[in-house]
Formats: sequence, structure tokens, C-alpha cells
Amino acid sequence: MSTPPPPPVTFEPALYYDVTARDDNPDCENYGQTFEVNPCYSNGGQVVIQCGRCRRNMTILSGTLLDPQPEVS
Ligand SMILES: [Zn+2]
Repeated sequence: MSTPPPPPVTFEPALYYDVTARDDNPDCENYGQTFEVNPCYSNGGQVVIQCGRCRRNMTILSGTLLDPQPEVS
């Protein structure tokens, strides 16, 4: 049984989120592991989390809008 793809996560642009992403590259030592990115800036609404090992884009599992938004100096 393969893991079903998670439902797509939509991001509003130019906001900060708490994002959980998973490495789905079987050749990577991070395979199957999940990583939390907080805060994660949504830029133009496209959030890409890249694995530091294999440099592939991870699968984004969830994105929670930070409330309140973090102060950015
Ligand atoms: Zn990887």
C-alpha cells in the first residue's frame, strides 16, 4: 500500500504559516520524515519546502495560518 497523496494545501499570499512537510524521496535519508517550518512565509501563495539533503521539494502536509502573525523587523 502506498501512502495516498495528501489533499492540497492552499496558502494566502504574503502571510506566515506553520507548515508541516514530508520528504517523499525513497532515495533520501530523510524519506518519510516530517519537518515543521515555523514561521514559513507564503510569498505569492506558493510555498515550497526543499529538503536539505536531496534538494527535492517536500510534500506539504499542512499549513496553519499563524495568529497573530509574527512581527518582522
Ligand atoms: Zn530528501
